[in-house]
Amino acid sequence: MKLLVFGSLNIDNTYDVDHTVKQGETISSLALNTYCGGKGLNQAIAVSKAGADTYHAGCIGTDGNDLVQILKDAGVHTELIKVDPSVRSGHTIIQRDKDGDNCIILYGGANQAITKDYVDKVLTHFEAGDFLILQNEINELAYIVEKAAERGLQVVLNPSPMNEIITGLDLSKVSYLILNEIEASQILDVAEDTDPDQLLDGLMEKFPSMKIVLTLGKKGSVYCDQTKRLAQSSFSVPVVDTTGAGDTFLGYFIASITSGMEVAAALERASKAAAIAVGSAGAAQAIPTADAVERF
Ligand code: ADP
Repeated sequence: MKLLVFGSLNIDNTYDVDHTVKQGETISSLALNTYCGGKGLNQAIAVSKAGADTYHAGCIGTDGNDLVQILKDAGVHTELIKVDPSVRSGHTIIQRDKDGDNCIILYGGANQAITKDYVDKVLTHFEAGDFLILQNEINELAYIVEKAAERGLQVVLNPSPMNEIITGLDLSKVSYLILNEIEASQILDVAEDTDPDQLLDGLMEKFPSMKIVLTLGKKGSVYCDQTKRLAQSSFSVPVVDTTGAGDTFLGYFIASITSGMEVAAALERASKAAAIAVGSAGAAQAIPTADAVERF
């Protein structure tokens, strides 16, 4: 069984500044660090490190070689990634001030240059029973869901960032919905502090045939399908950086499910992997190896 992540590839440029720049002001940056990111890239690295036969599809410009390399280094097949010389790779400009607060400009770039023709070509490499993982950082999401479901792929959706593109999707074609509390409350149009059990009730009522995983940050995660409901606590660790915790969790959970693991064991493995990720800095570089998760 193959696993395809069709998603974003981003270059994150983080500028350390004394304070975030004001209108009309020019300031000097104290340091610049460049990281590979994008929810698509993070999740592809996580599923691959967790042991799945992983492919990434998405679009970059000619400036995106590092993005391909970091995926390759994690064992991800990258030959389906499209290089479009007419666009820049997706990137962010992040100002991080001395208190750790930030301001971000996101340029979608190549992530927003996905064509239907490219989607069709990518999907010919996959067949019924293969898994497809999607987030909401590329264009043509509705078309990808429709065509993947037609081919019999199991669609996993992480509806992040949540917006009207997600609410406009035909979610009946999605097999697994993996989301946090904020996204769940937005899908259901209820208050953000709604009790997780109520969120799950609402999601199951709306999407009865789905398998749903609701992640609750340090409160853990809950799983629900038509026959069962399971809860998994998080593993307590000194928190360094929670960026990418959800991506690590999703990757390890889905890779574990596709390897035939029971849901309870997959939740536990995903929680361990996410705990290791929150214990180190960054997103992609904080995703642990399967051996590290085993030892945890
Ligand atoms: P997202 O990053 O998508 O908002 P969450 O914050 O819900 O996702 O985190 C995903 C998972 O990562 C949680 O279900 C939990 O297992 C783990 N996790 C998140 N924050 C912590 C934490 N502070 N300590 C330990 N595990 C955590």
